[in-house]
Amino acid sequence: MNDRQRWQAAMMDNYGTPGLTLVRGEGAYVWDVDGNRYLDLVTGLAVNALGHAHPAVVAAVTAQIGTLAHTSNLYINQPSLDLAERLLDLAGVDGDGRVLFCNSGAEANETAFKLSRRTGRTKVVATDGGFHGRTMGALTLTGQPAKRTPFEPLVPGVSHVPFGDVAALEAAIDDETAAFFVEPIQGEQGVVVPPEGYLQAAREITARHGALLVLDEVQTGVGRLGSWFGFQQVGIVPDVVTLAKGLGGGLPLGACLAFGPAKDLFGPGQHGTTFGGNAVCCAAGLAVLDTIAADGLLEHTAAVGKEIAAGVEALGHPLISGVRGAGLLLGITLREAVSAKAAAAAQRAGYLVNPVQPDVLRLAPPLILDEADAHRLVADLPSLLTEES
Ligand code: PMP
Repeated sequence: MNDRQRWQAAMMDNYGTPGLTLVRGEGAYVWDVDGNRYLDLVTGLAVNALGHAHPAVVAAVTAQIGTLAHTSNLYINQPSLDLAERLLDLAGVDGDGRVLFCNSGAEANETAFKLSRRTGRTKVVATDGGFHGRTMGALTLTGQPAKRTPFEPLVPGVSHVPFGDVAALEAAIDDETAAFFVEPIQGEQGVVVPPEGYLQAAREITARHGALLVLDEVQTGVGRLGSWFGFQQVGIVPDVVTLAKGLGGGLPLGACLAFGPAKDLFGPGQHGTTFGGNAVCCAAGLAVLDTIAADGLLEHTAAVGKEIAAGVEALGHPLISGVRGAGLLLGITLREAVSAKAAAAAQRAGYLVNPVQPDVLRLAPPLILDEADAHRLVADLPSLLTEES
C-alpha cells in the first residue's frame, strides 16, 4: 500500500485525503517522501515565523525536554511564567493582564467562551464567515454553516452578524451581551479584511455595553501581520486575545490573554487542561518570540508582504482581481473559481499554496521567507494560473 492508501485505511477522513507525504523541513522549504522540494507557503500558518527546524526552536525544545518536560498544573514551571510575562509585555498592557495556556486555537477560544460566562451574561455575538475552531463551543462561534449544521444543536446563546457591518453590530450587542468574538482578518474565509474603522467601532460598542471584545488572533497574531498582535495595527486594546498556531514554533501551544477586569474572571478550579503551558511548548514559544525580535522579523514580514502584494498586482493578470490581507497573510483573489487547479499546478512546480476558497489562493509562508523566494513566486504565478493539468 502507498501512503495514500494507508492513510485512507487508518485515518479518519476529516480533511479529505492529503496528496503528499512530507518527511523533512528546513527554513521555508519542505521535502516529500520522493525527495521533491517545495517552497512552503502553507504551513506558515502553523509554524509561523521561523519556518521548519529553526535552530533556536530545536535548541530550546531539546534543552527543555532534557531538563523538565512537565510539572502538571499543580506546580509552577518557569518557561510558562517567562512566556506569559513576555506576551503581556508585547501586548503593551502594563502588567494589567493574565494568561491561560492551552494546546490549540480551538481550546484558546473555548477558554475565552467560558471566561465570558463569568461576566454573568450568556449572550455571545460572533461573525458570519468567522472561523474559531472545531470543538463544540468554538464551532458554535464559527460562522460557516456548512461546518456547523451537521453538529447541531450547538451551544445556546450565540448569534452571528455580518463581518464588517457596524450597524449590525450596534443592533446585536446590548447590556446582556457577554462577548463579541471577531478575527482582525478572517483567515479561513479567504483572508477577508474588514472596512477601516470596524474594529475600533467594535471596541467602542462592546465597551459601552460592558461586553468583552474577544479578538481571535490565532491566525493574525505572533507577527503574521507585521506586528506582534493584529490589534496593534488598528490602535485598540481588546479585553481578550486568543493565540495558537505560530506561537509554539510548530509545537501545540495556545493561549488566552485577558486584560483589565477580564483577567480576574476565572477562579481556582474553573478551567484548565493537562498539557496547557507545559514547559517544552513554552520554551519553544519563548524561542519564537526571541527570534522574531532579534532578527527584526516584524519589519521583514511587513516589507516582504508588501512586495508580494505589489508584485502580484503589477502582473496585471486577467485572472487576478486583487490581493488582500496584511504582512504575510495574503489572499490572491481570482476572477474565476480556479484556485484548486492553480494550487495543484503550484505543487507540481514546487510551491505549496492554499486554495482557501474556490476563488482565493492564500499565502501564509513562514515569516523568514526571503525576498528572492518571494520574487520567484510572483514571477511564476502567471504560468501556475494558466497551466493545464
Ligand atoms: N481561530 C482561527 C482564526 C483559526 O484560523 C483557527 C485554525 N484555522 C482556529 C481558531 C483553530 O485553531 P486550531 O486548529 O489550533 O484548533
